[in-house]
Amino acid sequence: MHNKENGVYSCKCCGSLLFDSNCKFDSKSGWPSFWAPSINENIQEKLDYDYGMVRKEVVCAKCGCHLGHLFDDGPNPTGLRYCINSLSLDFKKTNPS
Ligand SMILES: [Zn+2]
Repeated sequence: MHNKENGVYSCKCCGSLLFDSNCKFDSKSGWPSFWAPSINENIQEKLDYDYGMVRKEVVCAKCGCHLGHLFDDGPNPTGLRYCINSLSLDFKKTNPS
């Protein structure tokens, strides 16, 4: 999902609005990365103890679908990096006004 178009990203499972392309950045990780969610309440953080590491997992607050992981090495202004699996997202283009 390497698009630079304006639009919104929603949950593949339930259609809940999750991220906005305004908050997308290129983390060079190959994953779609965002420095802030579109609507905070739509994303839930969980601790993930897989592989002997503690990471923050982010899931859809509405349906519980796994979205990706949250790291604290993102860009300003939040310093956060939501590293999201593109398979969990649906992209919808917004029309330029
Ligand atoms: Zn969902």
